[in-house]
Amino acid sequence: AEAVAESSADAIRLRHALDTLPQGVIVCEENGEVVFRNARAIGLMGGRHGDALAATAVVELLADAWKTGAADKTLDLYGPPRRTLAVRTQLIDDGRRTLGVIAVIDDISERRRLEEIRRDFVANVSHELKTPMGALGLLAETLVAETDAAVAQRLASRIHTEAFRVSRIIDDLLDLSRIESEEAPPREPVLVNLLMAEAVERMRAAAEQRDVKIEMSEPTPPVAVLGDRRQLVSALYNLLENAVKFSYDGNLVTFTGTVGDGEVQLEVEDHGVGIPARDLDRIFERFYRVDQGRSRTTGGTGLGLSIVRHVAANHQGRVEVESREGEGSTFRLILPTQSEVA
Ligand code: ADP
Repeated sequence: AEAVAESSADAIRLRHALDTLPQGVIVCEENGEVVFRNARAIGLMGGRHGDALAATAVVELLADAWKTGAADKTLDLYGPPRRTLAVRTQLIDDGRRTLGVIAVIDDISERRRLEEIRRDFVANVSHELKTPMGALGLLAETLVAETDAAVAQRLASRIHTEAFRVSRIIDDLLDLSRIESEEAPPREPVLVNLLMAEAVERMRAAAEQRDVKIEMSEPTPPVAVLGDRRQLVSALYNLLENAVKFSYDGNLVTFTGTVGDGEVQLEVEDHGVGIPARDLDRIFERFYRVDQGRSRTTGGTGLGLSIVRHVAANHQGRVEVESREGEGSTFRLILPTQSEVA
């Protein structure tokens, strides 16, 4: 009786231990019958949220394993939700005979998704840099052969513009990568009024050039948020820069801070070209631009709003947008005030 109790305690211990694994574990007997599933395997294949397709595929793999021995296979399940499972099967034997097969299942969907994002990103960056670099090459080549001083001057000035575009893309990429890697930015109290003033100051010259007036009204009473001053100014500056860039000459941009409900809302409103409803979901993606042509002439990199979104997320805040094509846009950066995050 003691031996039986001991072995059943062993079995229970083992079962609980297997249940704590992040991988799914399934064991099959020779007749193909599944004799064990740990908790993760039940979650992946059985039960309410399980995937019938995955279950069938894994059982087939287990059956194959009897013939082929160890095998690795990646299962792509088209869902929804789309999932990728890495399954490794192996025979279990005690040295004399085969006792069963075991399948270990890893849900690698998230890893796959991140790999895809990274691949797309590299492709996008290369594409974005290729255009101005190609132009630079061509312009320089023409310049070398040019004898007319006035034409040479024009070519040189275009080289300057293209080089400036490349350096802006690189600056934005560096900003974005710094902000992305800083998941927990330094948290020091910063006065919202100062953030607003600094962003407007940085934008002043460019706004004046376009004859766009920025009207700022600061939150009263003054409030502070906890976070990184540089990141926050950069987010506000990007919103103001877009508002000015996509305004018509002589337009007014309003920049308003309002406090309420433990939050401060920083709103930038313009009366410019606006954004078509179908693009509203996508403008926060890296390199996404509504109008490639216009964005190029305005010198946009398509990275500004990704920076804003990351800064908001880093500060437990959010960004909202409302826009009508041809009428203008309103962007809001909403951040918890200091007492709320403290
Ligand atoms: P960009 O460097 O091109 O401005 P962003 O990421 O800042 O990149 O913005 C992405 C796109 O969203 C812009 O190219 C533009 O099409 C659109 N957009 C952003 N802000 C505004 C705005 N205030 N008015 C109109 N369109 C805007």
